[in-house]
Amino acid sequence: MSRDTLLAFLRTGAARSARPFLHCPDGRSFTYGDLDAQTARLAQALQAKGVKPGDRVAVQIEKCPEAVFLYLACLRMGAVYLPLNTAYTLAETTYFIKDAEPALMVAAPDCQADLAKLVPVVLTLDALAHDRFSPVFENSPLAKDDLAAILYTSGTTGRSKGAMITLGNLTSNAITLADCWHFTESDVLLHALPIYHAHGLFVAINTVLVAGASMILLPRFDADAVLDVMKDATVMMGVPTFYTRLLAHPSLNRQSTHHMRLFISGSAPLLAQTHAEWRERTGHAILERYGLTECQMNSSNPYEGERRPGSVGFPLEGVTLRITHPETGIELAQGETGMIEVKGPNVCKGYWRNPDKTALEFRADGFFITGDLGLIDAEGYVHILGRAKDLVITGGFNVYPKEVEDEIGALDGVLECAVFGLDHPDFGEAVTAALVPKPGATLSEDGLLSALQTRLARFKQPKRLLIVEELPRNAMGKVLKSQLRDIYRGLYTHPTH
Ligand code: AMP
Repeated sequence: MSRDTLLAFLRTGAARSARPFLHCPDGRSFTYGDLDAQTARLAQALQAKGVKPGDRVAVQIEKCPEAVFLYLACLRMGAVYLPLNTAYTLAETTYFIKDAEPALMVAAPDCQADLAKLVPVVLTLDALAHDRFSPVFENSPLAKDDLAAILYTSGTTGRSKGAMITLGNLTSNAITLADCWHFTESDVLLHALPIYHAHGLFVAINTVLVAGASMILLPRFDADAVLDVMKDATVMMGVPTFYTRLLAHPSLNRQSTHHMRLFISGSAPLLAQTHAEWRERTGHAILERYGLTECQMNSSNPYEGERRPGSVGFPLEGVTLRITHPETGIELAQGETGMIEVKGPNVCKGYWRNPDKTALEFRADGFFITGDLGLIDAEGYVHILGRAKDLVITGGFNVYPKEVEDEIGALDGVLECAVFGLDHPDFGEAVTAALVPKPGATLSEDGLLSALQTRLARFKQPKRLLIVEELPRNAMGKVLKSQLRDIYRGLYTHPTH
């Protein structure tokens, strides 16, 4: 089979058509033949509604098999897929629509009236998906450099930007990941991630597709539901909170995970303790990898060989990763901490209708500036130390939150923590930590601070350690440090806080 573009893997022919592609917990199942027919019909339905190659199709619907088919139908007919989180407010959705100007939008029935004022054609999935069309469809002749999707970044710094992702980006990353993680036709992916984000949409679905594997599609993460189907799965891709929540479940053990060959984690840092506890309970070493909306995946721990806790492994095949001085852009020596930059067939074309941002975040030699600080250790493993904007500069010293979080996380009774900087009259910024105790643990701020004295240089020690019930996170499990900074603003400058 030609591996030219991802579309080649959708036209699977007789050899694959009877093989399973997707199972739902409600008992519905679809083969690769069904996938071919369903995407063919949806592609024609889009055309019948006037969508042309290059037009954007916005999709804001709950996760279901038909939503997966709609994504792939867009690729087949050459439309640019634009997934939107159903949790967005109308004001947020309006921003994305005005920016992307979709020709058509598929949305829930109760949103139709509001959206109809913004998009030429708005309809429900049911109205789009019907059987009138032929199950055979000739794919649009897309080139690798053609736009396949626009994914808006999570927008933790300013307005969210639309990453322009090409068919070539999708194809190269999917083939690389399927090889890197040893996917085969016998694999069954346990899919509990959202599909409006690169992780659940591209990394999960495209990798399954190029391998000819299948997946169990759960509508959302739920520890009971995940453990129920794990006996039928072989691989799970998750965010770190999947793993911490499963660890809190009494049924997680060697027996309940014995059918699995691989657990993959990404989208946020996996604590070394979570890695260790998971290994202890299940016998599996979680494989951590690193990516971002603009690049899909950049690096991965090895399938064979040491999966190093706290590291995101080696750059993927074909991807070049370098560490540079954040201000000068000059490449740093091995072991030094700086900005992670990447270049490769995975990196997007730039930001939609935003040449200024594109120019700011790409170097002249094509490297993308990720905004993540990191280093490459002596064995070549990449380590992420946090987002550059989360770096704390205290009394003139740089403190990398990850280093402090690792030390706090290793103290008895600590479930999780986040380190961030707050304005301080003497130090400029003060290292501050919010932490959640393990169930049943009684912790005191003074006790924790004194335990850290022997573990961290004085300038890295938090000035305050705030014990909280939970950390603010987004749907991908990323801790929202900007929210923590907002909540505790004035802690040192207005001490009555
Ligand atoms: P997003 O664009 O929403 O996928 O977010 C990408 C960001 O998530 C990256 O720039 C990193 O800051 C973070 N991230 C992704 N994977 C990891 C990981 N394995 N460890 C630490 N941070 C990660």
